[in-house]
Amino acid sequence: MHLQFVGSGDAFGSGGRFNTCFHVAGAQANFLIDCGASSLVGLKRLGIARDAIDTILVSHFHGDHFGGIPYFVLDAHFGKRARPLVLAGPAGIEGWYLRALEAAFEHFSTIKLAFDLKIVTLPERVATALGPLRVTPFPVVHGNSGGPFYAYRIEVEDRIIAYSGDTEWTDALTEVAHGADLFVTECYAYDKPIRYHLDLAAIERNLARLDAKRLVLTHMSDAMLAQIGKVKHETASDGLVVEL
Ligand SMILES: [Zn+2]
Ligand SMILES: [Zn+2]
Repeated sequence: MHLQFVGSGDAFGSGGRFNTCFHVAGAQANFLIDCGASSLVGLKRLGIARDAIDTILVSHFHGDHFGGIPYFVLDAHFGKRARPLVLAGPAGIEGWYLRALEAAFEHFSTIKLAFDLKIVTLPERVATALGPLRVTPFPVVHGNSGGPFYAYRIEVEDRIIAYSGDTEWTDALTEVAHGADLFVTECYAYDKPIRYHLDLAAIERNLARLDAKRLVLTHMSDAMLAQIGKVKHETASDGLVVEL
């Protein structure tokens, strides 16, 4: 199994990186974690088969995590996708999906898609089975617009993949990351705290409590990227593959 960073960027294209999107593929599992606005471009650039993806997990409804879904869905529709697709995320996902689709392509929110799109609301702190995945969302702290905000703990094919979503420090992250084979965490800032986001100093203060086997930083701003040479932790880049 592997996780590939399709997009390791923030909302604003810092460092020329694509918006957040991770592709995970194993013996059975094939899914995305987030699908930011640039994700379809990123998937095609990496040669990832769009129609093999069964599930898209959404951490929250900001455009850099969710905005690629209209392009993904309509490209699949016009490509005559046959395989069902599951779109799963926090409460309100169906309304966000319809509004995003309509904003991107007027009148397309009412068409009959070529494939079965199942939209699933994931309750917080409850494990939900989605095909080969067992997904437990944890509420995190990321402001007042575009929520609810989730971090994810994903059990899949005897591995645990954990992801912070966008958030400031919250003790829930210790539960998300506990014993995970991989913990991918946002690290938007270097040493200046930015409200509703993590900075490297905050992650390092809590490092002993994050007992994941492997830590990878993502969602870095220009200020964080400028310091990347000094960072002792593994950092994501677009296209990076993590074997699990
Ligand atoms: Zn973001
Ligand atoms: Zn966000």
